[in-house]
Amino acid sequence: MPTYFSFPSKNESSIAEEREVLEKLSQAAKIASVLYESQKNAGHPGANFYPVGVTKKELEFAARKNPKILDPYTIVERKGKELVAVPYSVKYKKELEEISGLLKAAASMSSDRGLQAYLRSRAKDLLNDNYDKSNILWLKTKGSAVGCVIGAFDRYLDKLFFKKRAFMAWAGILDQKLTSEMNRLKELILTTERAFLPGANRARIANTEIRVEDTAAFSGLAADFLFVGNNLPSSADIDLIQKHGTVFTIFKPTLEWRFHAWVLPIFRRLFDEETKNKFSDQDLQSAFIQSVVLHESCHSLMRYKDAPARLEELFPYLDELFTDLLGIKGCGTLILKNALTEHELEAIVAVAVCRSLYFYASLLDRPHIDPYATGGALVMEFLCKAGALLQKKDGFHLDSYRALIALNQLTSIIEYYIALGNHAEAKEFLKRFAVKKIFSPFLPYLAGLPHGGSL
Ligand SMILES: [Zn+2]
Repeated sequence: MPTYFSFPSKNESSIAEEREVLEKLSQAAKIASVLYESQKNAGHPGANFYPVGVTKKELEFAARKNPKILDPYTIVERKGKELVAVPYSVKYKKELEEISGLLKAAASMSSDRGLQAYLRSRAKDLLNDNYDKSNILWLKTKGSAVGCVIGAFDRYLDKLFFKKRAFMAWAGILDQKLTSEMNRLKELILTTERAFLPGANRARIANTEIRVEDTAAFSGLAADFLFVGNNLPSSADIDLIQKHGTVFTIFKPTLEWRFHAWVLPIFRRLFDEETKNKFSDQDLQSAFIQSVVLHESCHSLMRYKDAPARLEELFPYLDELFTDLLGIKGCGTLILKNALTEHELEAIVAVAVCRSLYFYASLLDRPHIDPYATGGALVMEFLCKAGALLQKKDGFHLDSYRALIALNQLTSIIEYYIALGNHAEAKEFLKRFAVKKIFSPFLPYLAGLPHGGSL
C-alpha cells in the first residue's frame, strides 16, 4: 500500500505563494513517508521499533536501567547482548535534516507569520526528539490558509506498548466555509455536559479547534491508515493538551473517497428496501461528515489522564470506539437543542453500521487498523443482539430506536474500561468478542467491493 499521496488542487482561489509553500511542504511530506516505511513491519507487533524476537518482559527489564528504551522517539536495537535505544534524531539524521531544510525554505516563502514561526520551530524540534515548542506554535496556526503537520506522532504501529511514534505528514489549504459549518456542530457537541464516573482521573482540555482542509499531500501513517480526520497533539501529550488545547483536521479528499468507495456502496448492498428508501445519498454524505466531526470532537469531550498508561496497547481499541459512541449519544442532546433532526440521527446510525463494515473489509489490506475493526465488531454485536439489525429477504432492516438503546448500553460499558478499568480486565472483556464470527453474516453483502482501495 502506498504511504504517500498527492491530490490535485481543487481550490482555484489559492494564490501563487500558497502553492509554492505547499510544494515545498509536499516534498518534505514525501520524505516522511520513507521514514514511516522504515518503521513499519506488519509481521511484528512491535513493528521495527524493537528488534524482532524481543519480548515485552525483556524490554520492560531493560527500561528499568535505561528509560530511553521506552521513550516515544527511540528505536531499540541489539548491540551484542544489550538492548540500546537510538534516538530518531540520530537514526534518521539525514532525512530529518532534509525535511528541516524544506520546512525552513517553506517558511521563508510564506508571508503568514504564525506559519513561519511554527515551521521554523518544527524544523528545529525534528532534530531534538521533542516537539513541545513547535506543537504549541502549530496550535496557533489553526486559522492559517496553509496547514501542515510533519513529524512522529501517532502510536498505532507499536502494538507492544503503544508508545513509539510513527512518522506522518500532511499539507493542505483551509476550507473556510466548511470549517465554520462544522465548527458549529463541534461547539454544540462539546457543550453537552457529561458526568464523569466517580474516581476517574479526568483531563480538562483548554480548547478544541477544527480545520477542514483540501489536502494536497498525505504521508506516512496518515496515508497508510487513510485517515479522514486526525486530532493532535497526541493523547500521550495530555499535559500539553490540557494547557494549550487541541486541533483536529478533517481531510476532504479521503473523506470523499471513503464515502463514495465504501460507505455508500456498503449502504446500498447491505440494507433492505425500506431502510434504503429512508435516506438519500445526500443525507448519507452529510451524516458521514457529521459522524467524523462528532468522532474527532468527542476525543476532547471525555478524556482521562491515566487511560493510555493504564490500558497500554488496548487504549486505542477502547478509545476509538468510546469516541464514536459518545458522538452518537451526544446527538440526543443535539436533537433537544434543535441542532439535529431525528432523521439525521437515524442516518448517522446507518452510517455507523457501514463504517464498521468498511473497517472490517479493509482489514485484509490494512491489518494495523485492527482497533477500529474491533470497535466495529462490538457495535455490530450489540446491534444484532438487540434486534436492531434484522436480516430480511432483501437485506438487513435497521431499527434505529433499538439501535440507539443498544449503543447507549455499549457506551456505559466501554466508559467503565476507559475511565477506570485495568489492563487485565479490559483484555478479558475484549477477548469475549470474536471479530471474524461477528462479521461473517454480513460478508456476503460485501461481495464485489474493491479491496485495498487505493485512492
Ligand atoms: Zn479517533
